[in-house]
Amino acid sequence: MPHFEDMINDEEKNLILGGTLYLVATPIGNLSDLTARAVKVLKEADVIAAEDTRNTQKLLSMLDIHGKELISYYEHNKRARGEVLAEKLESGLSVALVTDAGTPAISDPGEDIVRLCEERGIPVTAVPGPCAAINALSLSALATGRFAFEGFLTTNMGERKKRLSEIAREKRTMIFYEAPHKLKATLSDLLSTFGDRRITLCREMTKRNEEILRTTLEKAVTLYETVAPRGEYVLVLEGEDALPEESKPKEDTWYASLSHEEHVLAYESRGISRMDAIKAAAKDLGVAKSVLYKELQAK
Ligand code: SAM
Repeated sequence: MPHFEDMINDEEKNLILGGTLYLVATPIGNLSDLTARAVKVLKEADVIAAEDTRNTQKLLSMLDIHGKELISYYEHNKRARGEVLAEKLESGLSVALVTDAGTPAISDPGEDIVRLCEERGIPVTAVPGPCAAINALSLSALATGRFAFEGFLTTNMGERKKRLSEIAREKRTMIFYEAPHKLKATLSDLLSTFGDRRITLCREMTKRNEEILRTTLEKAVTLYETVAPRGEYVLVLEGEDALPEESKPKEDTWYASLSHEEHVLAYESRGISRMDAIKAAAKDLGVAKSVLYKELQAK
């Protein structure tokens, strides 16, 4: 860790280098979180690549930056635009990449162009700043020493189930991004996968209505049965290692490789009623039987 006196001072450093891609982090809700260096790089870069040019144009106007070449770079044009940007970089221009909010390449466009630059030997540097995942982790009051970033869970039901079963025994603290209209479904999927455990819901961080709710999965599911989710969320979920010994799922349980439906069917095949089978499976999984019942009904 450098001491302050060892840190680079902008006055001493040629700030912006031609032929370099700058990944510029922007605020996730509070304009004051834009760093002085981010402003300088945006001012001096030859080209600005933006996820949403209209959104970035507003930011540039607020910063009194005018006449920049703005190129859109987002999920659905990133292949072709990546080539365009690489050519500009190879011709010696400096390019600043910004997304709508936070750190480029973190659940945002950027990952591919960094790889493309690496392949072509184009220098890339980052202008660090806000990142919702790290902001939430630091506020979570959960273990921060080791963590796993999961980003958005896919909405494709098959893939989602597969991913959740892959991480069901994750020992580290987990971080998920979620949109408000998908929050309820995600909380209930998390509960049926992980059982009840601690979760911190970080809503609208750095904004006027910031809310940090440190609760449990069961309580969060119950809360959002009556409260409508609003704004942007990061969910920080306790890993298995943090659970008390008696709450940890046993290794190699007979149902470990079964889907929840197959798990219930296995009990039914022993001659017990559907409701008793759901009750028994819910007990194995450490989830409320109503959650499992709803999940199976939704199929
Ligand atoms: N690259 C960004 C970063 O560094 O955090 C993340 C972009 S991702 C497309 C947007 C998601 O980040 C949102 O759906 C939400 O889960 C999370 N997010 C962004 N800003 C947030 C905020 N102010 N409060 C809570 N979550 C936020």
